[in-house]
Amino acid sequence: MAQNSGALQNTDVLIIGAGMSGIGFAVQLLRQFGTRNFKIIEKSDNLGGTWWVNSYPGCGCDVPSHFFSYSFALNPNWTQKFALQSEIHEYFSDVAAQYEIHKHVQFASLVERASWNEASGTWSVTIRDLQSSAITEHHCKILISAVGALSVPRECSIPGASNFRGRVFHTAQWDHTFNWKGKELVVVGNGCSATQIIPEICSGPGAAKMITQFSRQSHWLAERPNPKYSMLFKWTMKWIPLVMRIYRAKLYWDKEKDFKGFDIETGAEIRNGWSKEAADYIQVNAPAKYRDFLIPKTEIGCKRRVNDTNYLASLHQGNVNLIYDDPIDEIIPTGVRTQSGKIITAEAIVLANGFETQKPFESLEIFGENGVSIQDHWNLVSEGMPSSYLGTCLSGFPNFFMLMGPNTLSGHLSVIYTTECQINFIIRIIRPILNAIRTELPWLAVRRSDWDIVAVKPSAETQDIESVQEKAKKLVWATGCTSWFIDENTKRNTIMFPDWQYKFWLRSIFVSWDDFAYRTSTTFRKEELELTCVVNGLSATLNEQHNYSKVG
Ligand SMILES: Cc1cc2nc3c(=O)[nH]c(=O)nc-3n(C[C@H](O)[C@H](O)[C@H](O)COP(=O)(O)OP(=O)(O)OC[C@H]3O[C@@H](n4cnc5c(N)ncnc54)[C@H](O)[C@@H]3O)c2cc1C
Repeated sequence: MAQNSGALQNTDVLIIGAGMSGIGFAVQLLRQFGTRNFKIIEKSDNLGGTWWVNSYPGCGCDVPSHFFSYSFALNPNWTQKFALQSEIHEYFSDVAAQYEIHKHVQFASLVERASWNEASGTWSVTIRDLQSSAITEHHCKILISAVGALSVPRECSIPGASNFRGRVFHTAQWDHTFNWKGKELVVVGNGCSATQIIPEICSGPGAAKMITQFSRQSHWLAERPNPKYSMLFKWTMKWIPLVMRIYRAKLYWDKEKDFKGFDIETGAEIRNGWSKEAADYIQVNAPAKYRDFLIPKTEIGCKRRVNDTNYLASLHQGNVNLIYDDPIDEIIPTGVRTQSGKIITAEAIVLANGFETQKPFESLEIFGENGVSIQDHWNLVSEGMPSSYLGTCLSGFPNFFMLMGPNTLSGHLSVIYTTECQINFIIRIIRPILNAIRTELPWLAVRRSDWDIVAVKPSAETQDIESVQEKAKKLVWATGCTSWFIDENTKRNTIMFPDWQYKFWLRSIFVSWDDFAYRTSTTFRKEELELTCVVNGLSATLNEQHNYSKVG
């Protein structure tokens, strides 16, 4: 039974989630605003989000690390072009340590609910301590969601899992007590995670006895050499001024220019070139028996391309078997039974089946003005599916901002780039409020503005949502492949930003101020009056003392 500890805490800002986005926001609060009056609530027991929980063998990023890093914390020491999970996690931990972010994080705590209080212009947030189950209430002026878009593993939808005698686990919940050496495994899926894991566990002295991979749809695979960086390269990055920035800019442009090929009509020729190159690559590198399946029949770019991390090479091994035409019908105690009745024995089933991407607030409930929930809001504005203004704001949810929100991902670039744009955008919008409520320097309690509430206007939000959907219809993601970008029922694209990424950046620096409405809460006005009274009272007392001393 949950205990309400009765403890009440207040901070100017509360951030939900200590992954790349939460850490990035906290750092910018310190760097740009100099405030330490914030707290991060994190449900797991460490920083890093994605890069902490996804510790499966071979986990790494698909964007070159010199671009998959914060612009304010470039790292000359990346050991290879595409870093692996442990190095990426170390990077985020180092950045957090540099800014002493961990002091502000409450770990093993789940934000269960947040509701807006119009009179005080604050959010009341309910937090559950996951160890003691104690509940605390937290009040904050600004609420930031940094809960990520790929943090809730998809459930296993295959019947019979509870009867299995071995272990079943998701890639994001890798069972590190399981030693695959000499064992039989089933891997479900063939996206990034599956293609990273299989090469790692199928060879070397600790190789699995047999890996059977089940795949429904093939992905366009891209050749991806992953050179180690030499000492000279790292030295150059570190010591020659601007070289690391220029290298990063080049990596950005090499990726950004791909957007030209995403337009269904005008990008067709570019995509033909890409698909020919990728098909040739698969043709040359895949075993003959799988080639036909492995060359996708869908448009290239419709799903994010998968880097080939030696996956095709591993399919040549005798202990790897790919099944694409006989799906799993049922999990049985000793393994799986396929639709044709074939039994595949296994000691572990690895679910590489992705994440719940259409339910971004699965882990908590958020209620805005008049107690309206986010889901009710989406029911009104976007057929029940996630949507937003610039992936960041919702009308009716004042002082609330989302990082990595709806329609912020790209088919080709780094999420960190977009998130940093969002962070700077939010800081611009909340600056007048943070200045007004600045609690850290009470002796400087000078009100620089009368506002303590900001929200995007409903008309601006609707316009933005419509524009995103219109643009997305003209892009390659709408060409009919099954992907996690598109909701199957409504056909709405809830995930991708349908434009050049530099335009996202431009919108984040040239804020359309007319799209926002600032106002003042009743309590804030009252406090201001009280402050004025205190100041007037103080000056009256001083005057009296002055007069008294003159008289005296
Ligand atoms: C395997 C994998 C590989 C990826 N590779 C790339 C890549 O190469 N390039 C790229 O651009 N992107 C990649 N991504 C996307 C990735 O999600 C981002 O790169 C990024 O790390 C997301 O950071 P985030 O902080 O927004 O979210 P997350 O890293 O998901 O962090 C969210 C945090 O919020 C916490 N949280 C959630 N709900 C609550 C709650 N109610 N209360 C308290 N805490 C909560 C979670 O525990 C988590 O720590 C990858 C994702 C995965 C899963």
